[in-house]
Amino acid sequence: MIRKTESEFIAPYLKDASNFLGGHAEEVVIPETSDELADFLKNETRPVTIAGAGTGLTASRIPSGGIVISLERLNIIMKEEEGRVRVGPAVTLNELQSFLVPTGWFYPPNPTEAWASLGGNLATNASGSRSYKYGVTRDYVEEVELVLVDGRKTFLQRGLKITEPLAFEDGSKIIFPEIAYQSPECKNAAGYFVRPGMDWLDLFIGSDGTLGIFTEIVLRLIPRPDDFVSGVLFFDEERSCWELVPKIKSSDRKKIDPCSLEYFDRNALKKLKSKYKNIPNHSAAALFFEQDVIKMKDRGLVLENWYKFLREENIMLDDSWFAQGPKDVRMFHDFRHDVPAIINEENSRVGRVKLGTDMAVPDKYFMSMMRFYKETMEASDFDYVMFGHFGDNHLHINFLPEESQRDAAQKLCDQMVSQILEWGGTVSAEHGIGKLKKKYFAKMVGPNGLKDLNKIKHCLNPENRLGAGNLL
Ligand SMILES: Cc1cc2nc3c(=O)[nH]c(=O)nc-3n(C[C@H](O)[C@H](O)[C@H](O)COP(=O)(O)OP(=O)(O)OC[C@H]3O[C@@H](n4cnc5c(N)ncnc54)[C@H](O)[C@@H]3O)c2cc1C
Repeated sequence: MIRKTESEFIAPYLKDASNFLGGHAEEVVIPETSDELADFLKNETRPVTIAGAGTGLTASRIPSGGIVISLERLNIIMKEEEGRVRVGPAVTLNELQSFLVPTGWFYPPNPTEAWASLGGNLATNASGSRSYKYGVTRDYVEEVELVLVDGRKTFLQRGLKITEPLAFEDGSKIIFPEIAYQSPECKNAAGYFVRPGMDWLDLFIGSDGTLGIFTEIVLRLIPRPDDFVSGVLFFDEERSCWELVPKIKSSDRKKIDPCSLEYFDRNALKKLKSKYKNIPNHSAAALFFEQDVIKMKDRGLVLENWYKFLREENIMLDDSWFAQGPKDVRMFHDFRHDVPAIINEENSRVGRVKLGTDMAVPDKYFMSMMRFYKETMEASDFDYVMFGHFGDNHLHINFLPEESQRDAAQKLCDQMVSQILEWGGTVSAEHGIGKLKKKYFAKMVGPNGLKDLNKIKHCLNPENRLGAGNLL
C-alpha cells in the first residue's frame, strides 16, 4: 500500500472538473487489493474520500479533510464469460471500450467523458447521449464487491432485495430502514435511488461516494451493433430544432428509433466554430442524432428512412452532416464532447467555479422548459451556453458570468431550479449532487425526504466519515 503525506503528492487529488477550491487532506492512501483496503479501514477513524479519475463536476471527490483513498491500482479488466466483463473500479470507460472492440461485445452507457473511471461512473450513476435508448450505468451493473468505511466487505448481486438483510463477510448484517421516500420517476441522479422492493445494489449505485466503496464491478454487455447512422442537423431558428424533437420521439419506431438526440444552442456552436470551421454561419441551433444499426445489411434502409423523414419535415439536408463511416461517428462524438470540454477549460483558465444546470423534466414540459430557459437567459446580462440530452428532456445550461456577475448568475440559477421543481423535475439528471448542489437537493426532497435519506446513510456510514460533505 502506498501512503503519502507530502503536499505536492496530495495536490492532484484536491481537484476535479468543477474547479471547486478549498479541498484539503492529511494523506493519500493507494491500496493494492481490496483486502488491503478493508484491513486498513478497520483501523481507521478519519474521514475518507474516494478518488476516481477526477472528471466529476460536483466536487464530490474533493476531500474536506481526513484521507483520500485512490483505487488507481485496482485497474484490471477480465472478460468473464459471454456478455459479462469484470473490471477494477479504476478502469476507465476508454480502456473498457478499447478492450471490447475486438470481442464483438458492447457496453452501451456512454457518458461524454470517457476518461472517467467505472468506479466513478457507478458512484454517480453516469449516463450519456445514448442513455435515451440504452439506459444508464445502473442498467448494466450485475455485481459488485463492496467495502464499507468501517472495513466490512460484501459481494452484491442482482436479486438481493432490500427486504432481506445485507450480510457481510464477518457475519454482521444491515437491515434497510423503514422510510417513505421514493426517487422521482424521470431520469434522475439526485440522491439515493429508492424504490419498494429494489435490489441493494441499486442503493449503492449513484450514492455520490457516501455509502460504500466499489472495489470490483461486473458489467452486463450487449452484442455490438454493426454500425451507427448519425448526423448533425443545423437550424436557422432554435425553435425549429426544438419542435422536431417531439416529432422524432412520436414517429414510427420501426423506422426512426434514435439512441441519441443531442442539442447545441447558438452559443455552443459559436464555441465550437473555432475547431469546426464548416459549421454553417447562419446556424442558430444543431441536433446530433444517432441510430444503432444491428445488422450492416439494414444500414441503407435506416439511412433512407432518416432522409425521408427529414425531407418531410423540411430540414435542409444540404447544410447537414451525415457520418460516412466510423471516423465520422467518432468525430460527431468529439463534437459533442468538445462543448463541455471547452467550457471547463475556459472556467479553469479564468478561475471560475462551474455554475451549470443538470436538470430534467417529464416529457410533457419539454417545450415549456425550452421556452422558459431561452427567455430567462436572454433577459439576463451574462454569457451562457446551452446543450444536452434532448431525448431525456435534460439540458445543461452553463453560466459564464464575469466575477462581478457571479451572485446574479447564482440567483438566476436558483429561480430556474424552482420552476423545474414545480414541473416535477429533478435538480440533477446526470452529474449527481456532490458538494455543489446540496441546497437544490434539499429543496427537491424537502425535510422529510432528507430525514429518510439520512436514515439510510446512518445504517451504512453512521459517523458520516465516507464522502463527508457530499449530498446530505
Ligand atoms: C467534459 C466532461 C463531460 C462530462 N460528461 C458527462 C456525461 O455525459 N454524463 C455523466 O454522467 N457525467 C459526465 N461528466 C461528469 C463525470 O465524468 C462523471 O461524473 C463521472 O462518472 C465521474 O467519474 P470519475 O472517475 O472521474 O469520478 P471522480 O470525479 O473521481 O469521483 C466522483 C464521485 O465518485 C466517487 N467514487 C469514485 N470511485 C469510487 C469507487 N470506486 N467507489 C465509490 N465511490 C467512488 C467519488 O468519491 C466521488 O464522490 C462529464 C465531465 C466532463 C469533465
